[in-house]
Amino acid sequence: MKIEIDTHTHSIASLHAYSTIDELVSGAAKHGLKGFVLTEHGPALQGGLPHPYYFGNLGVLPHQIRGIKLFRGVELNIMDETGGLDLPVKYLKVLDFVMAGLHEACFAPASKTANTRAMLAAIENPFVDCISHPGNRVYPVDYEAVVKAAARLGKALEINNSSFKVRKGSAENCKTIARLAKDFGCLISCGSDAHYQDDVGRFDAALAVIAEAGIGGEQLINSTLEGFTEFYKHRMAERRRRG
Ligand SMILES: [Zn+2]
Ligand SMILES: [Zn+2]
Repeated sequence: MKIEIDTHTHSIASLHAYSTIDELVSGAAKHGLKGFVLTEHGPALQGGLPHPYYFGNLGVLPHQIRGIKLFRGVELNIMDETGGLDLPVKYLKVLDFVMAGLHEACFAPASKTANTRAMLAAIENPFVDCISHPGNRVYPVDYEAVVKAAARLGKALEINNSSFKVRKGSAENCKTIARLAKDFGCLISCGSDAHYQDDVGRFDAALAVIAEAGIGGEQLINSTLEGFTEFYKHRMAERRRRG
């Protein structure tokens, strides 16, 4: 199975990443992508500090660089059990793709019940399109509840390629999510979570899990440029309607 759009990348604006946007473009071209989403961390993450203005000014970037499509996104921090996020709605309304995820600097790993409550609240937030790395082993959650909620609301859950490398012990959770997503018809996003240009478009471990679960391209939001365009335009319209 192919992936044409990488939905999860970080540039040097997330201060623990190491490539410029132009270098990410080179990485995307090298791996044969048609485009990628720039998803810097929300401002609450220590060491991942683009000011909110950064997201408000993304409109100055071209939509295409050297033939590679560039989409404007964010990886927000889920801040609490009510699904609180770290950017105001006015910024979320104008982005192409809004992910939210649990990060230790912003939400200390808690009980399975509390982690699940936080993730469900983020899924139910009308401004969130996708949950990043829900398989992270430091945040045990009720996967069936999470997958069912995402399926019901048309949100995507990410199978994150970096989870197999930097979040060791997450592979089994990712397999569980993929299996449940297949059973309940939940949309899946396959992201590299690249923090360096060579990792843009690297999906080998995540794609193996997706294929093993029997998930086809029609269930993946970013398998094709056309499919991703349909997903983000639908979600963007919903965010604007709710804002
Ligand atoms: Zn993350
Ligand atoms: Zn990330």
